[in-house]
Amino acid sequence: MKIINIALDGPSGSGKSTLAKGLSEKLNILYLDTGAMYRAAACKALSLGIDTLDEKGVASFIDGIDLEIRYIDGAQHTFLDKKDVSLRIREPEVSMAASNISSLKCVRLKMVEMQRAIAKSMSCILDGRDIGSFVLPDAKYKFYITAAPEVRTARRKAELESRGFKVNFDELLKEIEQRDYNDKHRDFAPLVQAEDAVYIDTSDMSAQEVLERILSYIKR
Ligand code: C5P
Repeated sequence: MKIINIALDGPSGSGKSTLAKGLSEKLNILYLDTGAMYRAAACKALSLGIDTLDEKGVASFIDGIDLEIRYIDGAQHTFLDKKDVSLRIREPEVSMAASNISSLKCVRLKMVEMQRAIAKSMSCILDGRDIGSFVLPDAKYKFYITAAPEVRTARRKAELESRGFKVNFDELLKEIEQRDYNDKHRDFAPLVQAEDAVYIDTSDMSAQEVLERILSYIKR
């Protein structure tokens, strides 16, 4: 059977993961959340007491990292050192740490190697920052999803609050803008729209509308 990969890139809170879940159900293909992998790498550094911007320190463990992505009842679970860290990686302190660690070339090379291996073995949707531009430049479909920073912050706030975290809008907006800046300005594989990606601004769209728009491109 032919393997088809869909690349979904864009900044934090643009709606990529909701969209990717919807697409994965509609198209019956796997969804790989690549941000979870950077989050797990950040958790490892935090547990070792290594600064997430200390390239030497991070390089000392990244190649041997025991990181595994498993699917349980169709949902992605992230295992670090054989432990399910799927909830831990969503904690607010991990977001900024993941943003920092993802700027390191040694980390990106390791994660990209794993992502390419998964994408080569089965049809899947990958969401991230550099999927269409760097990880899978030959992906069959590429989309760049974005929204105004305030809209993305409101979405992230609602998501975090639904999981019991207390969130201050202005602080979260600042963090999202900082993460955008980091993603767009790192030297290696920054966040950019691939030339052949379809651009969608989801600021004034519902999740259902975005899903339908993407499906209409894919059916075309
Ligand atoms: O998507 P999510 O917010 O979970 O990603 C966490 C962090 O991982 C992001 O802030 C981003 O810096 C980084 N990331 C990345 N490349 C990817 C996916 C995520 O640099 N493909």
